[in-house]
Amino acid sequence: MNPLGIFLITATALFPAYQLFSLPNVADKVALFSQYLGLAALILMAWGQILATRFRGVETIFGGLDRVYVLHKWTGIVVMAAILLHDTIDADMDGLGRETALNELAETLGELSLYGLLILVVISVATFIPYHLWKWTHKAMGALFAAGTFHFFFIMKPFAMGDPAGLYTGAFCAAGILAYLWTLLPERMRPSRAYNISKLEQTGGALAITMAPKSRGLRPHPGQFGILRFTGARKSEPHPFSFSQIAPDGTLRVTAKALGDFTSGLSGALKVGQEVRIQGPFGRFRLSGKGPEVWIAGGIGITPFLAWAEALEANADPAHLFYCVRSQNDAPHLAEIQAIADGKPNLSLHVFASSDGARLTAATLAETVGSDLGNAKVSFCGPLSLRAALPKDLQRYGVTARSFHYEEFEFRTGIGLKRLANRILAKAIR
Ligand SMILES: Cc1cc2nc3c(=O)[nH]c(=O)nc-3n(C[C@H](O)[C@H](O)[C@H](O)COP(=O)(O)OP(=O)(O)OC[C@H]3O[C@@H](n4cnc5c(N)ncnc54)[C@H](O)[C@@H]3O)c2cc1C
Repeated sequence: MNPLGIFLITATALFPAYQLFSLPNVADKVALFSQYLGLAALILMAWGQILATRFRGVETIFGGLDRVYVLHKWTGIVVMAAILLHDTIDADMDGLGRETALNELAETLGELSLYGLLILVVISVATFIPYHLWKWTHKAMGALFAAGTFHFFFIMKPFAMGDPAGLYTGAFCAAGILAYLWTLLPERMRPSRAYNISKLEQTGGALAITMAPKSRGLRPHPGQFGILRFTGARKSEPHPFSFSQIAPDGTLRVTAKALGDFTSGLSGALKVGQEVRIQGPFGRFRLSGKGPEVWIAGGIGITPFLAWAEALEANADPAHLFYCVRSQNDAPHLAEIQAIADGKPNLSLHVFASSDGARLTAATLAETVGSDLGNAKVSFCGPLSLRAALPKDLQRYGVTARSFHYEEFEFRTGIGLKRLANRILAKAIR
């Protein structure tokens, strides 16, 4: 995650504190603090909506889209805490004049927004709710943000909407609502490029989909991903996939592992010749090529590394690719990655198949890479279970958190409730 983005969000949310506490003639500082919390919550909600737009500039400021969604989630959680406090600490002030019907409506909408958001934030972090249902509840958040904006515009407060404090937060509310309206646009109206499927192929339990551009195609960097919509198929919900091959003629390939409802039925639903709309390219999982590299792929996490391997230049520093799979038969593109490694003396491939009893640990990794490991950039893409253990163990071999990079293959990361429930369940069964 880009620290600049975190700084920007924090600074913009703190600024109204300065504006409010420099207002003249306001004696009730506790109520003022509560009012500040309300403004900060609105600014953070606006950022949450802006982060969800997938605009190019968003990735430039905040980092890859996978991290943007993590930031979006934590922004929502801080909003929740701020509005709960805003509701608990009395924000009413004496001497602001007589309440009108509009002020009362604003107060009611504020309450509605608070309780609605509370429910929706709890649903948002519950990753066990199916994605297609979760998506709709998540979209409703913008409507509650609009209710919160109405509350801010028409509630009685110690400043007018034309004052700097009113204009500042009002501008964020307007930007947030515009961003929300953008996210409501039907997928077919969002910028995307048209492709046709030119080849479908099964590989190690996954489906490789090669697509040729209909006209001008995307120009992704190796390691980036697109959001694909298979128009005309019964599978037109957009889903993110990394490009496992980026050919010089503009042809792109993704490789999809059947992990759920959508991906399970893909091979039966797709045909050669069918249209695909691709949004993107997104992501900041980039090949540096400077200094020694260690790449760790778990199962389908091989996809960005396939594109990296192809792009690795002959004069680049050595790269070690560790490919962890259940079995050799269950390893997408194994023959292809082997052929690429055979043709590049600076790329070494190490396959760890658990069916053969092989397990990748920090110690085996250090033994294979040798003294280069402490100076290497370590990049990871694969299941959370593997990622959870490695960075801590690798610290013993000089790999710092800064030199460990990873791609989230999941936009909806939750706050670990599912893992906690599994752990409790496992203990209870034992
Ligand atoms: C940046 C990125 C790159 C990825 N690259 C690859 C790849 O190269 N190959 C590959 O096989 N998989 C890849 N994935 C994962 C792939 O997108 C999911 O496996 C797929 O969307 C699951 O959909 P499903 O309905 O079959 O499974 P489900 O069981 O319904 O969903 C599994 C999880 O995927 C997420 N998900 C479901 N639908 C969507 C959606 N429409 N948009 C976003 N997330 C969704 C949900 O959080 C859900 O918890 C990538 C994911 C991300 C975020």
